[in-house]
Amino acid sequence: MIIAGFQKSTLLDYPGKVACLIFTYGCNLRCEYCHNPELVIQKCLKKNIVSEETIFSFLKERKGLLDAVVITGGEPTIQSDLIPFIKKIKKLGYLVKLDTNGTNSKIVKKILDLEIVDYWAMDVKYAQEVYKQNLLNAIPYSEIQKNIKLIKERAKDYEFRTTYVKGIHTLKSVEGIGKLIKGSKRYYIQNFRPGKTINPQLNFSNSFTEKELEKIKKVMSKYVKKVEIR
Ligand code: SF4
Repeated sequence: MIIAGFQKSTLLDYPGKVACLIFTYGCNLRCEYCHNPELVIQKCLKKNIVSEETIFSFLKERKGLLDAVVITGGEPTIQSDLIPFIKKIKKLGYLVKLDTNGTNSKIVKKILDLEIVDYWAMDVKYAQEVYKQNLLNAIPYSEIQKNIKLIKERAKDYEFRTTYVKGIHTLKSVEGIGKLIKGSKRYYIQNFRPGKTINPQLNFSNSFTEKELEKIKKVMSKYVKKVEIR
């Protein structure tokens, strides 16, 4: 595992649980609005690497005080030793949440077969046509559909989520996303917040207003049982 960030405590990343947050390095996508360019397009600096020993000695110390471990990125499923890493965490008795961009159905399926992830969060980034333009030609669009289906049908618990960026998303594209995840259980709408992003041109004019977010919520509520603005 290449781990390039570690946060000892978060109340925001695993619903209802106290968790720590592990950031893996590297991603197979290049979303313009990505808030973690240091994990995606920048070189991985030796000084930022966190060893697995550090993580596991922390987890052993915190047993009973911490509920869960959230593995995020970057894109965790590109790490070749993700499965043994999760197994080790589960052995210590922690809940595990895995964040994914939903481009690696082979690994997702293996993990589902092993039942070692308690909560999945998959980004459903665009409607179909926009996805195709943004998958860097290397990832077939069918991967997105496969991962949605796998998570929807087999995950112990899960959420789908989208970061909405004006200029990339329109109110019309909301319907497209809704159709992709129709019948799922939980969906979070995340507004774009400017800051450090892969495309530094993005700014406040790329954020949606409260009123627009409510409209998005109304549309998505036709497709998903529980919809929240985060
Ligand atoms: S937003 Fe997620 S999927 Fe997109 S580039 Fe960043 S880490 Fe990768």
